[in-house]
Amino acid sequence: MVDYSFTEEQELFRESMREFCAREITPKAEMLEQAKEMPEEIIKALAGFELLGMMVDPEYGGLGTDPVTLGIAAEELGRADPSCAVPVFFLVVNSWSYVLNKYGTDEAKQEILPKSVKGEQFVGIATTESDIGSDLGNMKTKIRSEGDKYVVNGEKMYISGIGEATKYSGGHVTLAKMTDAGTRGLSLFYLPLKDTPGITPTYIEELGREGISFGGFNIENVEIPKRYLIGEENKGFYIVHEGYELARGLIGLVCVGAASKALDNGIAYIKERKAFGKPIGKYEGIQFKLAEHYVRIQALRELTYKALWTYDQEMKGQASRFDVSMAIAMSKSVCSNWAFDAINDVMQWQGAFGYTKECPDQKALRGVRSFTLAEGSVEIMKLIIARELLGKEFLAYR
Ligand SMILES: Cc1cc2nc3c(=O)[nH]c(=O)nc-3n(C[C@H](O)[C@H](O)[C@H](O)COP(=O)(O)OP(=O)(O)OC[C@H]3O[C@@H](n4cnc5c(N)ncnc54)[C@H](O)[C@@H]3O)c2cc1C
Repeated sequence: MVDYSFTEEQELFRESMREFCAREITPKAEMLEQAKEMPEEIIKALAGFELLGMMVDPEYGGLGTDPVTLGIAAEELGRADPSCAVPVFFLVVNSWSYVLNKYGTDEAKQEILPKSVKGEQFVGIATTESDIGSDLGNMKTKIRSEGDKYVVNGEKMYISGIGEATKYSGGHVTLAKMTDAGTRGLSLFYLPLKDTPGITPTYIEELGREGISFGGFNIENVEIPKRYLIGEENKGFYIVHEGYELARGLIGLVCVGAASKALDNGIAYIKERKAFGKPIGKYEGIQFKLAEHYVRIQALRELTYKALWTYDQEMKGQASRFDVSMAIAMSKSVCSNWAFDAINDVMQWQGAFGYTKECPDQKALRGVRSFTLAEGSVEIMKLIIARELLGKEFLAYR
């Protein structure tokens, strides 16, 4: 039997995270709905509690912590902000600053990471375009080498953190095509958005997560220094998955946090609300749903912490990247839908009130729905699982 139980340090961290969230996040969750981008005071609070760049090396101001501890923070933030905006800000900055930390050049790391850890520079991810999301090998954005710089042309769309990057001098870890070799011809680099000539940002209103901005940007003859390349040229597709897998694991725990909080709300409600002379929690029709959702969310919790533990094992050379892909895809393939179903039933238990904007659970419903797509769709996760079960020769797109 493998032991992946929490350490004493991790248990203490969870306690302090819950206190931090009660103090700094929950009371501010309302303001996020009008914000349209992450309010500066929340970014400062996250940075002040050393939650940005947790897996960044201490020499760049980070904590150099492990993925499971990062997952604990994600779960607690998921409980605290039902809209999921703060957890998304947290997981995007952490996952992509980790990739920069691992594969970026020394100069780029010195320049970007100390600021992102302090919340002064947003680090996002931009792979998706209007015409492609899952099928990265067919992307249109191009990068070419020209003397001591790279030149980039194209567009990115449906990207989180456009406003944060332009306001806080941040940028996005970006994937573009260097040669026509499909996924083997993609390169990854850091693209600063603020005041960069040739970058035109656009904004889109999404269904939930009002506290983080969403949109895209056009890229017209944008010149970037060679120090912004992340890893080797044409290896971007492989490197980007290390960030995506970390982010997907954190998303699993955001869903656990959001659904657990909704179930707590639901339990309190069904004990009080009476219909036909009894609290509705006395009826089996409600109890069975509660039991089913509780089991699913606990199973998801176990599955996801194990996946992040596997990620940690891989970092220590004790698991393969395929082990990580499989474990993470298992969690990401169900987390959004299971959390959605649980939250949806909690709303149903609350009758007409559950369908009002005053019900906090509706924000959670809209928030977790984003994760059926963001950072890799449910269907693509199932393809990864099937690839591991059947072998690469069964991949439909090969
Ligand atoms: C809220 C939100 C935030 C996001 N933030 C970012 C971000 O910060 N950065 C970023 O780069 N992207 C971001 N995305 C984009 C996200 O990564 C893409 O939506 C996702 O990868 C799917 O791509 P697509 O939307 O182009 O759908 P497509 O790839 O066009 O797919 C359309 C549908 O077909 C399904 N499908 C595709 N291929 C197959 C197949 N072989 N078998 C079965 N079904 C298939 C998909 O699962 C999907 O349901 C975000 C999306 C959302 C909704």
